[in-house]
Amino acid sequence: MTRQVKVGNVLVGGGAPVSIQSMLCARDDDVKGNLEQARALEACGCEILRISVPRPEAVETLKAVKAAVRMPVVADIHFDHRLALMALDAGADKIRINPGNIGSLEKAREVAMACKARGVPIRVGVNGGSCEKELLEKYGGPTAEALFESAMKHVRILEDCGFYDTVISMKSSDVPTMVKAYRLAHENCDYPLHLGITEAGTEYYSIVKSAMGIGSLLMDGIGDTVRVSITGDVTDEVKAAKRILSAAEVRQFGPRLVSCPTCGRTQIDVYSIAQKVDEAIRGMDKDIKVAVMGCAVNGPGEAREADIGIAGGKDEAVLFRHGEVVRKLKGDIAAQLIEEIEKL
Ligand code: SF4
Repeated sequence: MTRQVKVGNVLVGGGAPVSIQSMLCARDDDVKGNLEQARALEACGCEILRISVPRPEAVETLKAVKAAVRMPVVADIHFDHRLALMALDAGADKIRINPGNIGSLEKAREVAMACKARGVPIRVGVNGGSCEKELLEKYGGPTAEALFESAMKHVRILEDCGFYDTVISMKSSDVPTMVKAYRLAHENCDYPLHLGITEAGTEYYSIVKSAMGIGSLLMDGIGDTVRVSITGDVTDEVKAAKRILSAAEVRQFGPRLVSCPTCGRTQIDVYSIAQKVDEAIRGMDKDIKVAVMGCAVNGPGEAREADIGIAGGKDEAVLFRHGEVVRKLKGDIAAQLIEEIEKL
């Protein structure tokens, strides 16, 4: 079990539910754009929000975002410890900073003490692309061992200041390296782990890589908070994270849909039924499995295993509820199935 830290009103580690993070990507001085993104992220289920603070002007944006959302806000700082102190004064609930990169032990201590005084945790976040030269030489590249050693170097600086509310991330764009680095951390320390693939790419690349990397770790009980990074719409990051957590059976976010890919046996419009059902169940708060199956080969089996489902026949479908055949559906099959789901 990892240690637990408190990021605003969200607990991270120590058995708390694995939380979902995302990051604002509007320009640091675009208050309106950042607020729009922050509200959209909160509305779609983001639980922790990160914002870059690369210069003093960005602290004003941080303040505006902090006032507009209920979820905790993390200030992402590189190199300049004064920005960390300003972000804390602006109400940041967590600071992402690497204390070995801010110039001196004195500055690291100043940040650690200011965080400690406010009960604000720090995330040490190392990336394959910014691993120290000596570690790249020692390990022959940004290997998992290099990432882990780099992270622990920053963590030890905080420990030397008596600071232990630390979260660690060791992101790589290479899935096996990322997985191995987190496994090393899991075996060798008890700090909560923030999982993510860095520079994961556009939607499909990122979702596949994140599902593999984050998903495999989660299934082994590793990971306390996640961010799926996507070059694209920020809300897709949250939707993808939810699907990964749900598929790994770590958390549930409403109904899960099972639908067949269709084949030559299909005699009902599985695609459009599945699309309509998918859309209808998204906002529902029921922990149920819904099956939309095209025929009587695998259909009845899956539909029976589900809480509710259909198996297609010739221009009709058999409705199953909790393993029992209920009746045949004809006409608008999707609408009738959705009505039955609503009744559950
Ligand atoms: Fe084909 Fe039936 Fe399987 Fe769907 S459930 S893919 S229709 S065999």
